[in-house]
Amino acid sequence: MSQHDLNGLITHTEPRASKMVQQLKDEGISHEALLSLMEAIPRHEFVEPAFSHLAYSATPLPIGRNQTISQPLTVARMTEWLLSYARLGRVLEVGTGSGYQTRILAHFFNKVHTVERQKRLHEQAKKRLSLMGVNNVEYLFGDGQAGWPNKVEMDAVIITAMASKIPLPLTNCLKQQGILIMPIDHPTPQIGCWRKEGDRWKCLGTESAHFVPLLEGTEHA
Ligand code: SAH
Repeated sequence: MSQHDLNGLITHTEPRASKMVQQLKDEGISHEALLSLMEAIPRHEFVEPAFSHLAYSATPLPIGRNQTISQPLTVARMTEWLLSYARLGRVLEVGTGSGYQTRILAHFFNKVHTVERQKRLHEQAKKRLSLMGVNNVEYLFGDGQAGWPNKVEMDAVIITAMASKIPLPLTNCLKQQGILIMPIDHPTPQIGCWRKEGDRWKCLGTESAHFVPLLEGTEHA
């Protein structure tokens, strides 16, 4: 999908989404194109059907396989950092989950590479996004800690599950001046944004947030 093209989404806009966007503005999210996109995406189609009535609430929600979609503010904050600091070329997402964050990344980046270790979630997200007409995403079923195959260099890496330390292949595939977004659990659970500067990492922002853990290997069920 081309950048800033909201055609085909507008019909889904509903009052619950407008309320969610107002809350995001109240929390300090100000990027207009991001707010319009989040208002237009049918978030209720990404969560487990039993929770769809809560899809626009300020809470994480189940997406199946014991995993959760982050609350709207966390998604918005991570994306706003990327829009402020990253070159919007190629991004690697570790933890496709429902595909909601992937859907947002696909709107702004030229190319999205996304990895998921749960086969069922990988397949569902791929199907969901292709039905929505999203066609600039490459999906991989695997352990995202290994990075992306073929040593493709990324402008940004976003990890949507909590690790105790960042896997080396993920920092290695990031270009110099590239942006890394990942959760950390020290001193309290939070999400942070860093820029790769030589062999140093410049912290550009942090915010309190909770995430499911980054796990080893894959699950085929
Ligand atoms: N961005 C997702 C959030 C999903 S929660 C969304 O918008 O819905 C985090 C996801 O990371 C889960 O689906 C989990 O299965 C996945 N995950 C955890 N460890 C992983 C790993 N090593 N490689 C790839 N995916 C992983």
